[in-house]
Amino acid sequence: MNRIPTSSFYGNSLKGYTPPALREDAKKLYRGLSTAKCFHFPTQSAALEAAAKLPGLELFAEDLDSSGTRHYLLASYSDFWEIYRKRTSKHFYEVIRENVSCKLYFDLEYIRACNTHVQEQVLVDSISKLVKEGLKQILKRKESSLLPYLKCLVLDSSSQEKFSKHIIFPKIVFPNNRITGKFISKLLQMSDISSHFLVLKPSRDEMQTVLAIDLSVYSRNRCFRILGSSKMGENRPLTIGQSMNQELLHETLICYFYPDDVILIDEAQIDYIQPLNDSFEIPFTLKSSLLPNKYNDTFATSNSKSSPFPEIDKFIESVIYDRQVKGSIRNVLFFSSSLKLVYNIQKYRYCHHIGRHHKSNHIVLIVELNTMVYYQKCLDPECRAIDYRSPPLPLPEHLLQNFPLKTDFEASK
Ligand SMILES: [Zn+2]
Repeated sequence: MNRIPTSSFYGNSLKGYTPPALREDAKKLYRGLSTAKCFHFPTQSAALEAAAKLPGLELFAEDLDSSGTRHYLLASYSDFWEIYRKRTSKHFYEVIRENVSCKLYFDLEYIRACNTHVQEQVLVDSISKLVKEGLKQILKRKESSLLPYLKCLVLDSSSQEKFSKHIIFPKIVFPNNRITGKFISKLLQMSDISSHFLVLKPSRDEMQTVLAIDLSVYSRNRCFRILGSSKMGENRPLTIGQSMNQELLHETLICYFYPDDVILIDEAQIDYIQPLNDSFEIPFTLKSSLLPNKYNDTFATSNSKSSPFPEIDKFIESVIYDRQVKGSIRNVLFFSSSLKLVYNIQKYRYCHHIGRHHKSNHIVLIVELNTMVYYQKCLDPECRAIDYRSPPLPLPEHLLQNFPLKTDFEASK
C-alpha cells in the first residue's frame, strides 16, 4: 500500500538476484549509465515477477521502436527520475501493476474532425463535476470540504487531428486499477452529465457513438504514458503547461503518492453511488469486464442501422422527416439491461428545445421499451448543457399490440 519512494532497497533485496541482460536494441540507450540505477527486462512478465520480489522498486516501460516493442525497467522513483531527466527523447510509460494502489485518472480522446460539436473545456469540466458528485455520494460531506481532493492535473498531448488528454486527481486513491475503473463506470451510470462524454468515431463508412473516456485503461498491468513522453514515432509528448521537475513528474505518476495526503476509496464505498433512474444511457460499445454484471447483457448494435425490433425501427423512420428533410437512422444501440433503444439520427435535426432544425448538430431519439415511450435528446452543446430531453410521447397503439415483449412486461408488473 505504502508507495513512499525510496532507494534504500537495492542493497538488501537484491542479494543473489541476477537480472537478465540488457536487450541488444536497448544497450545504446543506457550506455554510460550506472547499472545500479535500474534493472532491465525484455518482457513484462519477467519484470512483473522481479517486481513482486523487490518491494520499493517501481516498474516502467520504454518504447524501443515505433511498432510497440518495449522493454521494462525496475527502479526507485528517484533513480527513475535520474534516468528520465537525462533522456533527450522520452518514450516512457508507468506500469500500473495489478494490485497496486493508484490515483483516479481519466484518459480522454477523440478525433476532432468528427466532433466539432464537442466543447473541450465543457468535457474537462464535466469530468470534475462527475467526480464531485461521486465523492458527495460516497463521503456524505459538504461540497466545500471536498474541494482539496478535487484538484486535478490536465496533461495534454493533442494534435490538430486528435484531442488527447490525461486528467489525474492526485489526492483520490483506489486500492487498485480495476476498482478505479469500477468507480468510473458507476459515475457514468449515476449522472446525466454522462451524455457530455459521447463522441463520434469513424468506423469503416459508419460513425459510431462512443465514450470520449477510454475505459480500457483500467485493465491489468496497464502501461500509461508519462509526462514528457511521446509514443516512439510520434512527436506528441504529454505536456502540462510548465517545465518539468522531479516533483511535478511524481505528482503526475498514477501510483506515486503519500498515504497521509490522500483520500482512499475502497470497493465497498463505491456501492454507495446510486444510478439515476432516468439517466442517459451510455453506449457501452467498449466491451469491458470492468462493467458491473448489470451491463454484461448489453447488446449494442453500434454499427447497425437496425435494432432487434424492426417494427420500432420502421416507426422511428416514420417520424424523422418533414417537408424539407428526410432523415435516416445512422445507427442504433440497444441496451437490453435497461430496455432502451438509442437511435442516432442523420440529416433530420429537428430539436424540440429550439423548435427548429439545428444547423449542424445531430439529434438522438430514445425509445424506452418498458414504458413504451420515446423522446428526443440532442448533441448540440447548448441543449446538452441543460441536458435537454423532449417531453416523452407514447409509441403508437399498433406497436403496443404487436410488441413481442409486451406480455412479459405486463406479467412482471
Ligand atoms: Zn437541440
